[in-house]
Amino acid sequence: MAGRKSPGDLQALLKRVRACTLCAEHLPLGPRPVVQISGSARILIAAQAPGRKVHETGLPFNDASGDRLRDWLGLTRETFYDPQHVAILPMGFCFPGTGNSGDLPPRKECAPAWRDELLAHLPRLELTLVIGQYALAWHLPDERGNLTETVKAWKRHWPAVIPLPHPSPRNNGWLKRNSWFEYDVLPSLRQRIAEIF
Ligand code: SF4
Repeated sequence: MAGRKSPGDLQALLKRVRACTLCAEHLPLGPRPVVQISGSARILIAAQAPGRKVHETGLPFNDASGDRLRDWLGLTRETFYDPQHVAILPMGFCFPGTGNSGDLPPRKECAPAWRDELLAHLPRLELTLVIGQYALAWHLPDERGNLTETVKAWKRHWPAVIPLPHPSPRNNGWLKRNSWFEYDVLPSLRQRIAEIF
């Protein structure tokens, strides 16, 4: 069928992604793209960028943020790390370094270089989890509000897309101030994921 992507196409694309050095001069630890994808994935996690710990292990969300995210989703590590089920594509695939107030933003070169091509390999996608402001700007460009307003209006994009705050421990203050997220959003999110599986 015209336009259908084969697994071979995806493997060739991933090979190119893993060899990417496009913004290497800006990466303090050098390129190490951390992505998880297969053509059968039904959930996409559109996240920000790997942190230092993820860079070291090469495993996305292999940190405290990941523990909280898996709890939010009601997923075991086994399912979360199975690319047949879950694709994980941050807005920047490599660790961007650290600034005065935490990790730097995802490298701006990355999404224009790779994102559309990779997303075209996810024909079975049922749910996209959009995490943090950079992923929001790409996946929900019509949302003009700040992150809190966008997450609060989560039903607007239901059931195909759900905007989420970043699960990082750095966001504990936000989660405390916005307890509606835990009581209102998370039960529906877990139910949606359970339905997909
Ligand atoms: S962050 Fe993206 S564009 Fe930059 S080197 Fe890594 S894969 Fe390439």
